[in-house]
Amino acid sequence: MEKRIKEAVRYLGYGRNAADETTLALIGDAFADLERIAAPKSVCRIFDMEQTEDGRIIVGNMEIKSTSLSRNLKGCVKVVLFGATLGAGTDRLIMRASVADMAKAVIIQACAAAFLEEYCDEEQIRIGSELEKQGLYLRPRFSPGYGDFDIGYQEPLMRMLDCAKSIGLTLTDSFMMTPTKSVTALIGASPVKERCPIAGCEACGKTDCEYRR
Ligand code: SF4
Repeated sequence: MEKRIKEAVRYLGYGRNAADETTLALIGDAFADLERIAAPKSVCRIFDMEQTEDGRIIVGNMEIKSTSLSRNLKGCVKVVLFGATLGAGTDRLIMRASVADMAKAVIIQACAAAFLEEYCDEEQIRIGSELEKQGLYLRPRFSPGYGDFDIGYQEPLMRMLDCAKSIGLTLTDSFMMTPTKSVTALIGASPVKERCPIAGCEACGKTDCEYRR
């Protein structure tokens, strides 16, 4: 089964159980709609980074306090700030479906999440191969809200990426991203070749890794 379909099935909460034929057909339709309607865009900027002895991470004017991110960025010399969105059309697709057929809307939501993840992976591979030419290797993506990396860091991250202008991504007062199918993240770059799999630490067999998030 295609990776994106597997991911959508997982987001729908099937766990290890197989999805039924009707659900699989709806997933196929949802991906076809997304291929037509989604307008993925991304932006990235590379900064030098520094970790202080008292546990702060300094990236440009941003100062981050997070134990889990600190561990993941240990040994990194640069960090990629990354933002991506599927665009407003995807939100409208989900909205229209939720008025007409809630079950269909739930499936489109799951497929859009998988679609966005797939797009981010492709972009990360592209950024990673550029950085490899400089002898730097990417760690997994780390988004605000993960571990103890506060969701509030979305705001400075998006400001540093000028997300509103570059990819049309903004933040509401309650830290909701608009369009909703969007992601911001930090990606550490280290001179040590860890060969982190694109799927991140959860999919990595290196259980004793000191950078595991
Ligand atoms: S656990 Fe694997 S994916 Fe995570 S930082 Fe270590 S090597 Fe990279």
